[in-house]
Amino acid sequence: MRPVTHVVIVGAGTFGASLAWTLARAGHQVTLVDQFEPGDARATSGGESRLIRCSHGAEAAYTRTARRARALWRELEAESGEDLMVECGMAWFAEREDGWEAESERTMTAQGIPSQRLEPGEAARLFPSLGIADLAFVLLEPDAGVLRAQRAVRALTARAAEHGARIVRGRASPQGETVVLEPGARVTTGAGGSGGTLLADGTRLEGDAVVWACGPWLGRLFDGLVSLRVTCQELLFFDGGPAWRAPGVPAWVDYDRAMYGTADVDALGVKAALDEEGPPLDPDAELPAAGVTEARVRAYLADRFPALADAPLREGRCCRYELTPDSRFVAARHPEHRRTWLLGGGSGHGFKHGPAIAELMAAALLGGEPLPDRYALGAREPARSLRTAGS
Ligand SMILES: Cc1cc2nc3c(=O)[nH]c(=O)nc-3n(C[C@H](O)[C@H](O)[C@H](O)COP(=O)(O)OP(=O)(O)OC[C@H]3O[C@@H](n4cnc5c(N)ncnc54)[C@H](O)[C@@H]3O)c2cc1C
Repeated sequence: MRPVTHVVIVGAGTFGASLAWTLARAGHQVTLVDQFEPGDARATSGGESRLIRCSHGAEAAYTRTARRARALWRELEAESGEDLMVECGMAWFAEREDGWEAESERTMTAQGIPSQRLEPGEAARLFPSLGIADLAFVLLEPDAGVLRAQRAVRALTARAAEHGARIVRGRASPQGETVVLEPGARVTTGAGGSGGTLLADGTRLEGDAVVWACGPWLGRLFDGLVSLRVTCQELLFFDGGPAWRAPGVPAWVDYDRAMYGTADVDALGVKAALDEEGPPLDPDAELPAAGVTEARVRAYLADRFPALADAPLREGRCCRYELTPDSRFVAARHPEHRRTWLLGGGSGHGFKHGPAIAELMAAALLGGEPLPDRYALGAREPARSLRTAGS
């Protein structure tokens, strides 16, 4: 990496905050702008938890970045003193011998990443209850688990600031190579007290590079360059009782049936969600109340985890997905403004990869390393989803 560069990053979600941390701790000058507090529920990186796993079917590159990211999340834990990852393992429910799970197993084995193929009866011992009638096998990823998402994004931002990054609260828009801040923007690090230092109206930020990591807002800011659908996705939390709070109950994904969830982590309730693409949701719209998916999630739980069939619903909430047509991320240079870069397209599975994708981006910004073609701008063909088959 070259010695010191000033990079302006707009967006403090997993991608932007990871990039700020990566660059700031390598000694670069960073300004990180966001309209909200890091971890705000309106951003896609908000909410308490996200799954972290290396299984990505036959997609070796995503398996590799997930594994690299796991090491970097551990580094963030060591630096921040925070406990950000719950390594409870993850169970993949395979209804076929030759599906996504078998592909994932082969890819992980080739990269030396641990996984275990369990007979359904053996897997039943991992959960307080498990329906196995439809299962060919269960793939257990012992090093996978749950990231404390909101805390992780806050830790990334706080550590970036500790390493000297300037944090700005405000809404921004692109104008050529510059970042124009809306009135009311303030610097929240350094002098100025808890409210921060108000910046002059019309303040413009310039850098050797500007990275727009704007989650659901990216498509609107760069219309025609990035194709993103923004949708509303429901999460449900059930009261499963003490058995689901015991340490070591794995998180789980049913790729073919488009369901995923966790045990009761941090006493938030057993999380379960349908992962089909939800209805469209404007990036600036308030998040609606949940309630549409409960019947389908309950029917699944009654089948897969019979003990949860009548579990009381503790909470339902909606959040935003931003989806590219092929569920691959976006990380690329603007075609006209050579100092401007776009980063995002998390497509419902981006959180875990944040620090590893940030490393690739940093190498491109500073060292001219090419970014992979799969993250390029422009039209994309729909492809098999890297989340679940329901999308
Ligand atoms: C319900 C749900 C479950 C998910 N489950 C998983 C999972 O299990 N595992 C996983 O790895 N991933 C998961 N994901 C996906 C993952 O959370 C996202 O891919 C990832 O968080 C996207 O991060 P981001 O940095 O691109 O976007 P965001 O987190 O949305 O960050 C973008 C930031 O840019 C800011 N911004 C935008 N426009 C402007 C502007 N004009 N001016 C200033 N600031 C601006 C926003 O305020 C926001 O903070 C899930 C997502 C959801 C919603």
